Amino acid sequence: MRNSVHGIRTRANVPSPRYSLVLPIYNEEEVLPRLVERISALVARLDGETEVIFVDDGSSDKSVRYLRRMLAAEPNFRLIELSRNFGHQIAITAGMEAAAGEAVIVMDADLQDPPEVVLELVAKWKEGFEIVYARRVRREGESWFKRFTASVFYRLLEKMTPVDIPRDVGDFRLVGRKALETFKRMPEHDRFVRGMFGWMGFKQAAVPFERPARTLGETKYPFWKMLNLAVHGIIGFSEQPLRLALWTGLAVSALAVVFGAYAILAWIFETGVIAGWTSTVVIVSLLIGINLFMTGVVGLYVGSIHAEVKRRPLYVIDRLSGFDRPTRVASR
Ligand code: UDP
Ligand code: MG
Repeated sequence: MRNSVHGIRTRANVPSPRYSLVLPIYNEEEVLPRLVERISALVARLDGETEVIFVDDGSSDKSVRYLRRMLAAEPNFRLIELSRNFGHQIAITAGMEAAAGEAVIVMDADLQDPPEVVLELVAKWKEGFEIVYARRVRREGESWFKRFTASVFYRLLEKMTPVDIPRDVGDFRLVGRKALETFKRMPEHDRFVRGMFGWMGFKQAAVPFERPARTLGETKYPFWKMLNLAVHGIIGFSEQPLRLALWTGLAVSALAVVFGAYAILAWIFETGVIAGWTSTVVIVSLLIGINLFMTGVVGLYVGSIHAEVKRRPLYVIDRLSGFDRPTRVASR
């Protein structure tokens, strides 16, 4: 498995490096020069050979052209070009599956995950933690709306799932070989990577960091993408919504029995109240609303099953470059 990505042989006879950095790239042309500079500085400070895997997630700007050019100059750089935009969670999966390092570090490309923090992640890994995640203790430059919705979502998810998914943690993390091999055996399409690492156990630790604002380029996570990620997180890690459907159904049925009994009694004793048109309308529309909502919830799970049973590959690689050469110890 180690030498292939979805059956494509990538590194015959190339010795494995100690560290792999995985960086998903989606239209980041403004950031790339600065990123390459910061990453090269980081690689020089790491205490072992390091490969840097850029995963181009179908960028439509000049990102790919720039990265291809960088590859010629930097022997430690590798590039995976996906055939289209598959989304952040899949892009990091592609990078991790191709990584050969003993420790693999995933970080955003926009420098909101400061490269220097990687040194702290590595230090914790050396203490024996298999998974080390970076926890955001402060977030700069993000709207109150993003912070508020994120905080509500994580607290909700925590209540809904038995899996330990750490709060205020994104995808900035270091994972050891054992965790990575476990991850590779998790083929699910509904991908919520931070939950998957929470699920697998192992010794885990957190390193706090202050998340700076994005200074170059703009966010690639508009509101609907965030919402989508949140739905995947809940559907993938909780069956509570299905249970909610059951309990709501039961509660509404109980109410219907009570109301029905009242209606019958009123009819028998001829209390003279003309059965209200208003109450009929209210009850019918309420029931239809609840019914549709619950069907929708079930639909989400069915959709997720549908995606799994098709058994399509998670992503399609258009081009791999740089994987066939050994890393060099940085000496800058
Ligand atoms: N990204 C990606 N594919 C996408 C969207 C984003 O590979 O469809 C990458 C993006 O280039 C960046 C990282 O995922 O490296 C995080 O995205 P962003 O910084 O826009 O998210 P935010 O920090 O605003 O949540
Ligand atoms: Mg960002």
